[in-house]
Amino acid sequence: MTAVNADLLEDLIQFFRVAKQIGQEKDRLGLSHFDPVRESQMLIDVQKLNNGRVSQSIVQHIFKEIFKASVEDMGNESRKKLHVNRISSSEDCIIDVKGVKIGGENPVVIAGPCAVESYDQIYGTAKMLKKLGINILRGGAFKPRSSPYSFQGLGIDALKWLREIADKFGMAVITEVMDTDTVSIVEEYADILQVGTRNMHNYSLLKRIGKCHKPVFLKRGFMSTIDEFIFAAEYIYLGGNSQIILCERGIRTFENQTRNTLDISAVPILKKETLLPVFVDISHSTGRKDIIEPMAHAALAAGADGIMVESHINPASALSDADQQLNQEETEQLIKSISRDFL
Ligand code: PEP
Ligand code: MN
Repeated sequence: MTAVNADLLEDLIQFFRVAKQIGQEKDRLGLSHFDPVRESQMLIDVQKLNNGRVSQSIVQHIFKEIFKASVEDMGNESRKKLHVNRISSSEDCIIDVKGVKIGGENPVVIAGPCAVESYDQIYGTAKMLKKLGINILRGGAFKPRSSPYSFQGLGIDALKWLREIADKFGMAVITEVMDTDTVSIVEEYADILQVGTRNMHNYSLLKRIGKCHKPVFLKRGFMSTIDEFIFAAEYIYLGGNSQIILCERGIRTFENQTRNTLDISAVPILKKETLLPVFVDISHSTGRKDIIEPMAHAALAAGADGIMVESHINPASALSDADQQLNQEETEQLIKSISRDFL
């Protein structure tokens, strides 16, 4: 039996060698690895060859498993070849934003309001955040809202205020870019371009952002797998922009105690599979202030390079996401709490 096993193994090795070559050819031609028509024809062929010598269902079961494993293997091979993937010895990508090292030794906190609502609001918020040692200011100028009747953001005015105020306090600006038409204007004012969860699959936008010379903060689509997330980053990379920060911001599940379900396992997986910095947005993933602190700890303990949090000088007056934005005291408490263990 040992000799039969050895023969079987040799045949399998040969099978996977050929399958790998086919996978490479399919990648070159841009074809899908899995071809259901071809697979069912191959199953019919082996059953004919078997001709009832072994139970047809056993033959079918074994070959289906072999075909499935070979398609998985093809996928692993082509994933390994992505530019954003970590090849065993490759070094972490560290992104320098106005002297703040993202992906370096120390975790970074990005904070600011959900949206820019007025000059005074962003001024007051930036001032309070700077005092807490936060150097990257967030704030939406173009807001992707589920309802077209909700506050849509103040557009270019908001970009100008963000820039002016961030410069005044020596901070960097991150803000969302929603479409290809506004990439140039957002790039002019922001230090980091944010691609929101709803746009992770917007390939035209990803390609356009790939042509930018500023770092990109790519949020995971709320219905996307980690592989799809990595492919979205690859789109940006292929465009010529390798300064990509990945952000896990929760995915949609059946759970309704939180706004989204924070997939904390995505953090070590993304760190392992890619060389990019990984952040966690603890505000949009939970939608709850009362669990922000343990979730921030969880994110950083899982290896995140930083967190994003929504913070507002007066959350009660906020025009979007009022319930989840931290006030001064709460932001201070959060920073104090993570400082002890992580900052
Ligand atoms: C945001 O950060 O302002 C935002 C809208 O987040 P998301 O795209 O993750 O919903
Ligand atoms: Mn928000």
